[in-house]
Amino acid sequence: MIIAIASGKGGTGKTTVAAALVKVWDRPVQAVDLDVEEPNLALYLKPELTGREISMMEIPLADQDKCTACGACSEICQFKAISVLGEYILTFPEMCHGCGGCLAVCPEGALSPDTRELGEVLWGWAGEIDFLMGRLRVGEAMSPPLMRAAKKRLDSSRDVIIDAPPGVSCPAVNAVKDTDVIVLVTEPTPFGFYDLKLAREAFTPIGAPMGVVINRTGIGDKGVYDYCHATGLPILLEIPYDRQVAEAYSRGEVIVDALPEYQNMFLELSSRIRDLADRRMKEARYA
Ligand code: SF4
Ligand code: SF4
Repeated sequence: MIIAIASGKGGTGKTTVAAALVKVWDRPVQAVDLDVEEPNLALYLKPELTGREISMMEIPLADQDKCTACGACSEICQFKAISVLGEYILTFPEMCHGCGGCLAVCPEGALSPDTRELGEVLWGWAGEIDFLMGRLRVGEAMSPPLMRAAKKRLDSSRDVIIDAPPGVSCPAVNAVKDTDVIVLVTEPTPFGFYDLKLAREAFTPIGAPMGVVINRTGIGDKGVYDYCHATGLPILLEIPYDRQVAEAYSRGEVIVDALPEYQNMFLELSSRIRDLADRRMKEARYA
């Protein structure tokens, strides 16, 4: 079973929830940080890292001497990563998505494959927890290929809990696709409501059941609750606004370790997540 912990925006407590859930998960589990632009899960789980792989992406290298400036490469490139200026061919590696289209269409063999470093994939252990993360190189913007490299190392013999990037853009959709359950972490404020709505709409086509964790209850208003009830989004857990939680978080501690009274709450969350996944499997079987 693969579970994504996502949120429509940053700062809602997504990593707090992911770390606590991993800690109470009572089956073999792999914790995966796919928030590759700002991976924080390791700060809480404190894994011992045992492996590292540099992730590279293929980009075109132009040979001016062979190029006839025909323009076929710039016409096919959707990302404006290669263009012809007069007789010169210019490449913009940071905009290249590595599709290989330009290399395929060049009639002169003027383009050859080169590589660019995207970042790194790291793995190790936090006690019994199998840990995996991607970390984007500083200044690099192309996170989906690095996330794909990290996803190749998902362990299918374990349940996988993914800390996804915040937001609803391409990286977030990449992280939550192919998952069995998507947990949306939000807060009961107008901002939380707006971003929850966006996240639900963006992730609905993926087809995985979704549930909501409302963090910092007691602040804000009823908008998030009304939306969940109106759309049938199950509320899986409510975490009260608690100064002790914020303090544990700022010390880099996992809530369920710092405040054992939260353990049952997260155990309950894990069983509700499994119920959602089981219901989906049953529906698929009888479809
Ligand atoms: S590999 Fe694809 S994205 Fe990169 S420059 Fe060529 S056509 Fe554009
Ligand atoms: S397709 Fe090849 S020959 Fe044509 S402009 Fe691009 S690099 Fe030059």
